[in-house]
Amino acid sequence: METVDTVVVGAGVIGLAVARQLALAGHEVLILEAEARFGTQTSARNSEVIHAGIYYPTGSLKARWCVRGKELLYRYCAERGVAHRRIGKLLIAVDAEELPMLASYAKRAATNGVPLQSLGAVEIHRREPAVRAVAGLYSESTGILDSHGLMLALLGDAERAGATLVTHTSVTGARIEPDGIILSVGGDAPLELRCRRLVNAAGLRAQELARRIVGFPVERIPPTFYAKGHYFLLSGRAPFQNLVYPMPDPAGLGIHVTLDLGGQCRFGPDVSGWPATPDHAFESGLEGKFYRAIRRYYPDLPDGALRPGYTGIRPKITGPREIAGDFIIQGPAAHGVAGLVNLFGIESPGLTACLAIAEQVLAELTVEPRRHTP
Ligand SMILES: Cc1cc2nc3c(=O)[nH]c(=O)nc-3n(C[C@H](O)[C@H](O)[C@H](O)COP(=O)(O)OP(=O)(O)OC[C@H]3O[C@@H](n4cnc5c(N)ncnc54)[C@H](O)[C@@H]3O)c2cc1C
Repeated sequence: METVDTVVVGAGVIGLAVARQLALAGHEVLILEAEARFGTQTSARNSEVIHAGIYYPTGSLKARWCVRGKELLYRYCAERGVAHRRIGKLLIAVDAEELPMLASYAKRAATNGVPLQSLGAVEIHRREPAVRAVAGLYSESTGILDSHGLMLALLGDAERAGATLVTHTSVTGARIEPDGIILSVGGDAPLELRCRRLVNAAGLRAQELARRIVGFPVERIPPTFYAKGHYFLLSGRAPFQNLVYPMPDPAGLGIHVTLDLGGQCRFGPDVSGWPATPDHAFESGLEGKFYRAIRRYYPDLPDGALRPGYTGIRPKITGPREIAGDFIIQGPAAHGVAGLVNLFGIESPGLTACLAIAEQVLAELTVEPRRHTP
């Protein structure tokens, strides 16, 4: 049986950032990806926003790694020539009822270390004449980036440091043995592979993969929920200079305005379903809901201006009526299995936080486990 030092399962932005970090630290790294290409799943189905870190509870991993990840990401994009723009974002209250919530986000952002500027209705109108709002917060550290360019750069660094990516290769199971972890690897020619370290960066399928690791304590695997979001694209020229966000809803950030680097304006993602299995089909009949939500802050949205875009699925560890969960980076110190790190619930702001998460995974793999679970 072949032995590899470290296997990373999943070549999304998280797996690639982790593979780069580990390879640069001197590990022999093999990245196994089920799909035909890297970065085709959640990492290709998001808003491509470099988040500032406004919303997340102070002290949470989401808050800490969003703020740290944002700094690392701006520096990385500049150094590696990854297309990005510090475009800025307006978080708005459309009526007086929303002012207390706006104030609570201003407070939270301050404790998270995120700089914001308070704006009144006149100043918002000056900056964004198409937007109707009574007050807002301006975040200058919010940006946009080319997520595929980022993944290409991460993979390039990892490969230059000796890592190898194998696509069309699904990890179908594993078992824990005293001298390592034995992986069952599917694909055209199924085989077994021994590794000393395993990073489960399987995104939407991370819990499923963890359940297939024989000997892993199942009570350490969080529940799985998939929250589906749709994007509609705006036909014609975007009337916005900044990203514009209404107040968030319990499972998402509200149907907001993002712009990509080519100037395409998109609205979304909504939260329009909790499928039992990941399913990226674009549902019909959502236009009415989108027109209503967008016209609250962009009243002049013309009829017929929206066309269906794409969907993305949030890998959640909490359900529709629960408070949003935090990222889970579960290393040997938490579950007792030497050499194994599971990444659960890496929803937004995972793209922003990818380099900070990668730093943490490296740290987890250097911590000794409390006990070994054979
Ligand atoms: C609608 C939406 C909008 C978002 N917007 C933003 C945003 O603007 N800014 C931000 O910071 N974050 C955003 N996010 C979050 C961000 O997109 C994710 O946190 C990030 O892409 C997760 O990356 P990943 O590598 O964990 O998952 P993925 O990209 O899904 O990668 C996991 C990979 O693992 C592979 N895989 C799975 N199982 C196996 C197996 N058994 N064997 C081999 N390979 C396997 C999959 O094929 C896949 O390629 C958004 C998320 C969603 C859903």
